[in-house]
Amino acid sequence: MAQILDGIEVRNQILARLKPRIGQLKRPPGLAVVLVGHNPASEIYVRHKIKACAELGIRSEKLTPPETISTDELLAVIEDLNRRPEIDGILVQMPLPKQIDSRRVLESVAADKDADGFHPINVGHLVAGRPAPRACTPAGVIELLKYYRIPMEGRRAVVLGRSDIVGKPMALMLIHENATVTVCHSKTPDLADECRRADILVAAIGRAAFVVGDYLAPGATVIDVGMNRVSDRAEADRLGRADEFARKGEVLVGDVHPLDVARVASAYTPVPGGVGPLTIAMLMANTVALSEQHQSST
Ligand code: NAP
Repeated sequence: MAQILDGIEVRNQILARLKPRIGQLKRPPGLAVVLVGHNPASEIYVRHKIKACAELGIRSEKLTPPETISTDELLAVIEDLNRRPEIDGILVQMPLPKQIDSRRVLESVAADKDADGFHPINVGHLVAGRPAPRACTPAGVIELLKYYRIPMEGRRAVVLGRSDIVGKPMALMLIHENATVTVCHSKTPDLADECRRADILVAAIGRAAFVVGDYLAPGATVIDVGMNRVSDRAEADRLGRADEFARKGEVLVGDVHPLDVARVASAYTPVPGGVGPLTIAMLMANTVALSEQHQSST
């Protein structure tokens, strides 16, 4: 029987460790969340982030500029947050409307308030292996592997996907854990062969159940970052999720085939309940670390 790597358990442990650190601060950490317009998925993510702050004792502030805001106007909003001493972390919820220069906006967040770890200075720190805010989803994956004592040192890790927010930082973090890392993407030939070499496979491509049994080495550890909504009944049936589909009219599946991974892997993250819960926990961890840094220097 493959072991299920429970992200909720790991999230709870991360949050429990943050609580006493927050209690020792002179003032609560402050996180500003900037949500432009009314993207329904973004609204849900932001609601979850703000709820997590409230439960933990982080002071959150939601700013909701209109969909029509210009890049310059949004830069002025960020600049104001950069100046305010009670704001330790700033998060700009992606995606931004088309007229906005997203790169300029992300780069305008002060590097020492970059709760998402996306600022080029912090990416540079990650490359160099120095402490700094880190991209939340891959940082959560590392926490999960450590929690379950899955050895990384000397192991072959394959990261499927090379996005700036998941694939690339994931590869760097695994390198720092002394894994031997291969990064695959849409131009990689013989993808199944590459993935089958992995002791640890991290799938982050955004393709529902793309990674099937043939991609998996027996006994591998499989981390499924993907979050894909399947609204086709036959597809949900094929993935063993017919009951859930009947109740909800859609199912959330990862990038890895849920039945195949349970059959072939030695350990794997389920979707939902695997990597998803860790992302917000690591956002909280970044915010607390930034606040500790700010409060120790004042
Ligand atoms: P992304 O920016 O769209 O990047 C996808 C990556 O996968 C790209 O590098 C792309 O290759 C590669 N790719 C796409 N199709 C492929 C294929 N058929 N074969 C090989 N490689 C392929 O996605 P992302 O933001 O990294 O997100 C990936 C998944 O993780 C999504 O399902 C997303 O919803 C999920 N996610 C989950 C969380 C969480 O908290 N659980 C957080 C973030 C993202 P190219 O570079 O060659 O185009």
